[in-house]
Amino acid sequence: MFYIGCHLSATNGYLAMGKEALSIGANTFQFFTRNPRGGSVKALDLDDMAAYNRLANEHGFGTIVAHAPYTLNLCSDKLRVREFGREVMRDDLERLQNIDRVVYNFHPGSHVGQGEDAGIEMIIEALNDILTEDIKTPVLLETMAGKGSEIGYKFEQLRRIIDGVHLKSKLGVCMDSCHISDAGYDVIGDFDAVLDEFDRIVGLERLYAFHLNDSKNDPASRKDRHEKIGEGTLGLDTIVSIINNPRIAHLPFALETPNDLNGYAKEIELLRARRTV
Ligand code: FE
Ligand code: FE
Ligand code: ZN
Repeated sequence: MFYIGCHLSATNGYLAMGKEALSIGANTFQFFTRNPRGGSVKALDLDDMAAYNRLANEHGFGTIVAHAPYTLNLCSDKLRVREFGREVMRDDLERLQNIDRVVYNFHPGSHVGQGEDAGIEMIIEALNDILTEDIKTPVLLETMAGKGSEIGYKFEQLRRIIDGVHLKSKLGVCMDSCHISDAGYDVIGDFDAVLDEFDRIVGLERLYAFHLNDSKNDPASRKDRHEKIGEGTLGLDTIVSIINNPRIAHLPFALETPNDLNGYAKEIELLRARRTV
């Protein structure tokens, strides 16, 4: 099964997102758990979540991706920002217990000049504080572009974080094609070799979701600017080789391209037509 969808607005709740996904030919989607730049959150609506679960089961939806807000930084130099990040993640994960098939993706963090080692230590400490045995939602570190002082643009950094966390079974990775190309991995030239490297350092069994984006920038630019499918430096052939790679073909693919709903519907249609596995 090809699980393909895009980022959707969570304003009207889970059931509305499920219906919107269906209307554009999607069978998965991504959404922000709360205001991406602020952090405010809606009241918990268990009926809406249950209604979404029914819809998703009826229509054979794949795993959906809950994305933590951008403001979250577990390795900020400010204690209150680090604390805020922990509170948000704890609350998000508690809420997500009510959704049947979902993963929780977050940006590992930016060390803001404190250094990579210090940043990684803070992220590990936070995850060891947040993760508990009862959490059923996999928590995913997103592969980053390496903009500013971002951590997570090298697979080795993700490995170090996972190594430091006690409840490793709760952790996974979400790979972003724009980010890893911007970070310097040769997505265009040899995506299979990138997967080999990921497998060697992190392990492909940790890969739970994929952000499918073209990039406005050249490889290794460390910029992080997404482009529409086929209109960026990756190009359509590269994107098609990603969705058809047998090692990751089972993953949910979420588009985060600069599009309105209609644009997403067209990209989904295009990718479905080019899917061969
Ligand atoms: Fe992201
Ligand atoms: Fe992403
Ligand atoms: Zn990005």
